[in-house]
Amino acid sequence: MKNIGLVAHDDMKDDLVKFVKENESTFNKMKIYSTGTTGARLLESMPSLDITPLASGPIGGDLQIGSLIVEDKLDTLIFLWDPMSPHPHDVDVKALLRIAVIKNIRLACNLATAKKVIQPEG
Ligand code: PGA
Repeated sequence: MKNIGLVAHDDMKDDLVKFVKENESTFNKMKIYSTGTTGARLLESMPSLDITPLASGPIGGDLQIGSLIVEDKLDTLIFLWDPMSPHPHDVDVKALLRIAVIKNIRLACNLATAKKVIQPEG
């Protein structure tokens, strides 16, 4: 079973919910950690998912996901960050992406890569 982080910025949340729904049987086998609003959106449409909701991204949720990566508790992160909008917590976003690269976990920042990382050999 994969331990996966799922995070999406506001304009990307619909895309993430649709993607997870399309692959619900795969995500049902995973332990999921999500920032607050992303997790709430996912649980609203798929209540059976095993999601641990953390704080909302702008108030520390991205850092909590980063901390799980530091502790080797996540092997995969799907982070649909929004390249078209400014974010007040941009430094947290950068810190999360940085630690994901340092720890060499599977990291998907768009749906094309997300499809690959959820495959068994992904
Ligand atoms: P949210 O946080 O899921 O609480 O909206 C995501 C983010 O902004 O990083």
